Amino acid sequence: MAKNCNLCPRQCNIDRTKSLGYCQSPDTVRIARVGLHEWEEPCISYGKGSGTIFFSGCNLRCVYCQNNEISSYLHGTEISVYTLADEMLKLQDMGAVNINFVTPTHYADKIILALDRVKHKLQIPTVYNCGGYENIETLKALDGYVDIYLPDLKYYSPKISKKYSGCGDYFDVAVKAIAEMARQTGKPTIDDDGHMKSGTMVRHLVLPSMYKDSIEAFDNLVKTVKPQEIAVSIMCQYFPTHLSKNYPEINRKTTTLEYMKVVNFVRTLGFEYGFMQDKSSAKKDYVPVFDYKQGE
Ligand code: SF4
Repeated sequence: MAKNCNLCPRQCNIDRTKSLGYCQSPDTVRIARVGLHEWEEPCISYGKGSGTIFFSGCNLRCVYCQNNEISSYLHGTEISVYTLADEMLKLQDMGAVNINFVTPTHYADKIILALDRVKHKLQIPTVYNCGGYENIETLKALDGYVDIYLPDLKYYSPKISKKYSGCGDYFDVAVKAIAEMARQTGKPTIDDDGHMKSGTMVRHLVLPSMYKDSIEAFDNLVKTVKPQEIAVSIMCQYFPTHLSKNYPEINRKTTTLEYMKVVNFVRTLGFEYGFMQDKSSAKKDYVPVFDYKQGE
């Protein structure tokens, strides 16, 4: 990485060994959990589970973040690039079906360094599980290191993205990022066992009171990215947490009717691969425990 950090569209241009930018993350990798995770989409978690590495800090810090303990409060442990590489191999040895980097954007440069050490030893795909607010230059640097991109597409309206995630340009940035991801990975490939091997899957969490914005987001996404080139996953696991109480319109769960309005619209757009989520997943029980300790 250049001395000053411009890894994401926040373009803080600061030296992270001396000060912190929007993501509040130091230059040294900080992680909060490493382990097998069963609650991703079936094609990502089938079998023994996805080999997740949760990074502390975030370049979006959404007001309703379900992982706010690590995204905003930076709970976690600092580790070296060498340890990060070792953790990937350990996950593979545990039977993980992939290596899943969760909220990786602000450590993309370190992930590349770690993968330089171990990518040739990994027989399972790597998954870049991000918020969608990504720099094209950073994504280009990841070309060849990432097998599956799992970006969010959170909002369409600049007013809404500014209000909940502090970035009015979210949709424009995210759509260009998704187009670059799809260019790199090609169309989704899923093997006979139901495991995704490569491709880009766009995730969308339907927020309460926001289903019209969800529909706008997908309606406009397909003007740039062909539905045949990506998979989609529509999620309903939202529950109010973190700062949601300050925003009455999102201080409740998403209703089944709101969720189905989005699903039914997305079904008309021609995606070949799509996933819907069970409504029972809208519970705190599905938030993992962030308990990483080095050497365990
Ligand atoms: S990764 Fe963090 S410090 Fe770097 S530009 Fe993004 S928000 Fe700023």
